[in-house]
Amino acid sequence: METRTEISSLGEFGLIKRINEGVKNMLPDTIKGIGDDAAVFDIGEEYGLLTSDMLLEGVHFDLTFFPLKHLGYKAIAINVSDIAAMNGVPRQVIVNLALSNRFSVEAIDELYSGIKAACSDFNVDLVGGDTSSSRSGLLISVSVFGKIKKDKITYRNTAKPNDLLCVTGDLGGAYLGLQLLEREKQVFLANPEMQPELEGKDYVVQRQLRPEARMDVIYELEEAGVIPTSMIDVSDGLASDLLHICAQSQVGAVVVEERLPIDEQTYLAASELNIGPVTAALNGGEDYELLFTVSQTSYELIKNNPKISVIGYITDNKEEIVLHTKADSRVPITAQGWT
Ligand code: ADP
Ligand code: MG
Repeated sequence: METRTEISSLGEFGLIKRINEGVKNMLPDTIKGIGDDAAVFDIGEEYGLLTSDMLLEGVHFDLTFFPLKHLGYKAIAINVSDIAAMNGVPRQVIVNLALSNRFSVEAIDELYSGIKAACSDFNVDLVGGDTSSSRSGLLISVSVFGKIKKDKITYRNTAKPNDLLCVTGDLGGAYLGLQLLEREKQVFLANPEMQPELEGKDYVVQRQLRPEARMDVIYELEEAGVIPTSMIDVSDGLASDLLHICAQSQVGAVVVEERLPIDEQTYLAASELNIGPVTAALNGGEDYELLFTVSQTSYELIKNNPKISVIGYITDNKEEIVLHTKADSRVPITAQGWT
């Protein structure tokens, strides 16, 4: 009998690892294949970058509370975020859609108004795609091509002991925004007369519905003359994405709880939903901030940037990736992708 292995026994990262084991890149201009935020090619004077991410109705978004315009914006932003994570600049995007007949022309106009707004904000051209019918629901898949000067590319596997660990913006908001939206949906389903209670929660809701790629920080780092020693974007949660940097760089890390950037609204939502704000910051995901390391000599150049928090440092002990808590203890940081 043929063996059948459940995908859940490998998990997302195990599955990608297994795919990667069967892949050998042969072309001399393929610089980096599977394993970073974007693939890297030699295109002459610069490197080309290519990345792809898809969003599925019922898995990544729920159209009962996700406006199509925001969905279009998010589909572009999360892909641009992977180009940013290579220290790159996005250039062209391709958009693939699968649609069921539940969607009207006006609905697609809405989706594209968000796609176009993002293309304009991130200064990218929409240059193609593919459109198909779908038996159920909406699928949107985006690929972005970007560029980066060869000496400025930033991988996940090059963090060094004693580097400072930095993160942009704040963490945990997107996850709590989603929890609030889910809660309001349940309330509405139980009683359609109820109005959503999202007043004063606009920031966390917006973190979920309309994430930004941190290209602003990429340009500011360039202006400051800082090249991170490693970088990843925070899509799965700080914990999970830090573990990628540490595993690939063969280093450990200490994250100082007190230094974690958490917005006031995130604290409020966390307490209302009875979720630990630090847990949300570490494991929430979908914040699309940048997690990066810099050498200590760069500290002076970043310390006055209000968009950047130094949250810890890299060590040479790859067995120890820990949170230094407010109570002065050290707890291991663990994470996983979807199962
Ligand atoms: P990110 O969260 O930055 O988009 P992922 O965790 O989705 O990264 O992917 C990690 C790496 O695995 C990337 O290099 C990506 O291109 C690669 N990858 C993901 N899915 C597949 C697949 N089905 N086939 C080949 N490579 C894949
Ligand atoms: Mg990424």
